[in-house]
Amino acid sequence: ETRSKSLLYLDGVSVSFDGFKALNSLSFVVEPGELRAIIGPNGAGKTTMMDIITGKTRPDSGTVLFEDSIDLTKRDEADIAQLGIGRKFQKPTVFESHTVWDNLELALNRSRGVFATLFYRLSGEDRDRIEEILSTIRLTHRKTELAANLSHGQKQWLEIGMLLAQEPKLLLVDEPVAGMTDAETAETAILLRDIARTRSVVVVEHDMGFIRDLGVKVTCLAEGSVLAEGSIDFVSNDPKVIENYLGR
Ligand code: ADP
Repeated sequence: ETRSKSLLYLDGVSVSFDGFKALNSLSFVVEPGELRAIIGPNGAGKTTMMDIITGKTRPDSGTVLFEDSIDLTKRDEADIAQLGIGRKFQKPTVFESHTVWDNLELALNRSRGVFATLFYRLSGEDRDRIEEILSTIRLTHRKTELAANLSHGQKQWLEIGMLLAQEPKLLLVDEPVAGMTDAETAETAILLRDIARTRSVVVVEHDMGFIRDLGVKVTCLAEGSVLAEGSIDFVSNDPKVIENYLGR
């Protein structure tokens, strides 16, 4: 039997903590170049799923494949990052006392195994790459600003830019719009769609207006497995989704 090439393939993934099933035979597939939204109540297993994909947690059973053949359950976190899976946690962790540009330069050096240094001369190509990222994350006009002086939303974008410096094939983004203004939230939907033109992005969010703006396929998790999957209209009208999540 053959199936189409997937970037990320999870099948029958289960993991328990002290007898509690955080993931219960979860199946989840992301195609190359896809932008996918994940929703679901607290405790649904969203974070645990990200932990499994990034090698932070090992599943008790099930299949986790990257690019159709790489078994992620056999790789450690550093390996998985190197393979091209980037993860953005909810809280931004930019270097506040550095400029926007220097944050991106540090991230570019880090992606080459050079830690916390600005002493490497950037090539013209590197500078072009940083300019391109600045444009993607809407911060060209603030490149000489200290990161500390950015708004909360701009810090989130800068951190996404720092991940882009590592050229991930898959970017996992946890609750990016929490605490953002309405304008920043709307801009983030456009920004993530831009980013997904050259890679896959999986975004976990509770903000249903934002999910609607994204306009992509949605997966609703509950109790460690997929409750519903499809367009936002399809998923948000599913009685199981209303009962377990939206109606709460
Ligand atoms: P979500 O991100 O959807 O809110 P989580 O993946 O964080 O859900 O959690 C799923 C369940 O697994 C929760 O009940 C949580 O308490 C439990 N859990 C997650 N990680 C651990 C852990 N490392 N040790 C014990 N329990 C955990």
